[in-house]
Amino acid sequence: MQYKYKKESDIQTTGCLVHYILTDGEHPYQATTPYSNDPLALFQNLRAGTFTLKCEERQQGIIGRMLCKSTEACPTIEECLQAITSFTHQADHNGVTNNSNNNGNKEIEPQISLSLDMSEEEEDIDDEPTEVDDEVAKKVITKKVVKTGMKTDENVLECSLKGVKVKMSSNTPHKRVYYKKNYCLYCEKPFGKVTRHLMRKHQDEVDIAKALAHKQGSTMCSFLLSKIRNKGKYIHNCSVKSARQGQMVPKRQTTYLLSATDFLPCYFCLAMYIRTDLWRHQRRCKLRPDGPVKRKVQTYCSFLLPMDHPVSDGLKKILEDMTYDAVTRRVKSNQLILSLGERMFLKNGEVGCHRADMRNKMRELTRLVLVARDLDKDTVFLKDLITPAKFNTVLAAVKKMTGFDHLTNRFAVPSTALKLRHSPMKV
Ligand SMILES: [Zn+2]
Ligand SMILES: [Zn+2]
Repeated sequence: MQYKYKKESDIQTTGCLVHYILTDGEHPYQATTPYSNDPLALFQNLRAGTFTLKCEERQQGIIGRMLCKSTEACPTIEECLQAITSFTHQADHNGVTNNSNNNGNKEIEPQISLSLDMSEEEEDIDDEPTEVDDEVAKKVITKKVVKTGMKTDENVLECSLKGVKVKMSSNTPHKRVYYKKNYCLYCEKPFGKVTRHLMRKHQDEVDIAKALAHKQGSTMCSFLLSKIRNKGKYIHNCSVKSARQGQMVPKRQTTYLLSATDFLPCYFCLAMYIRTDLWRHQRRCKLRPDGPVKRKVQTYCSFLLPMDHPVSDGLKKILEDMTYDAVTRRVKSNQLILSLGERMFLKNGEVGCHRADMRNKMRELTRLVLVARDLDKDTVFLKDLITPAKFNTVLAAVKKMTGFDHLTNRFAVPSTALKLRHSPMKV
């Protein structure tokens, strides 16, 4: 064998590693699962250059090119970095689902290699340099990638919002593209120059007339027009979310891929921002009335988007005090947990001290569902758990959640174990 080391070999290896990470340990050249059953086939595939990609379709392009045998098709390191940084971890891939028996293949720490790539990423140019700088946004992603190691429910939510895309900037490293889609509030169609369209076609609308009463080009005029623009976009985004397909338009387009759950509208101006930047925006939002900004901004603003299951205003107030994290997002999308919340609220929701209790109970149950989902891929909602067939899964999940030690027969967190004994019965 006379294989020479080339730069392309490194890229091919990286391609394999990325595929590993994206698919929870699937080798692109493997013939069987686990591939240790037939190492020879792996070797032959590698030599012949035949590989099967099990990652998502949008990721297959770049990985396919990275693994490709021909030198011409091989992407440059910059290209790879740019494409790969836009990926998010995908635990629930469409390929083989028997994750339980290929645990042995997981040799690489996903966080490390991905965040390494981040640090080398080149500076991107954005559509609106006046807003938050890129550095911050990048940090958000790095944080997000590190977090994915914890297997949050991001993926489940993404499944339910799979058809929803977020419009990205069309900038290339060498060229800026000045194209932003804006939606007209009145005819709900996209326009490149929506302000011009509004002024020409909808002069008769009250809000437009109000704006045009001010001198054109004045601060007040553009302020009122931007309010109408934002509202048009917001209505479009809401209809995309309830239809679960289409393209959301954020205030500021990113050059990297983010999922629809990463964006939330501002409570005052209704423009969509990356949710971790929302607090920063709200400090200088032009439409914000005087006075302090609300705490838990993200949860508060998340109620602006249409919910999967409607909740009463009282329960909404209670949910608003939760931190907007993976668990809260799951609480909001889990009908059974919400209806349990409604029932608890009817019973003693007015009493202040019971509110924290209700929040804890809902979060506890949601965490149980999340843990159970790690053990059993069929479990997505609480309703999947409360069947006799899943009794063992619940038991295992509770044990895992409360740190049950088989040797000493003791729980690390006994209080949670006790509480969890009662919660499922209430449902
Ligand atoms: Zn129109
Ligand atoms: Zn705002």
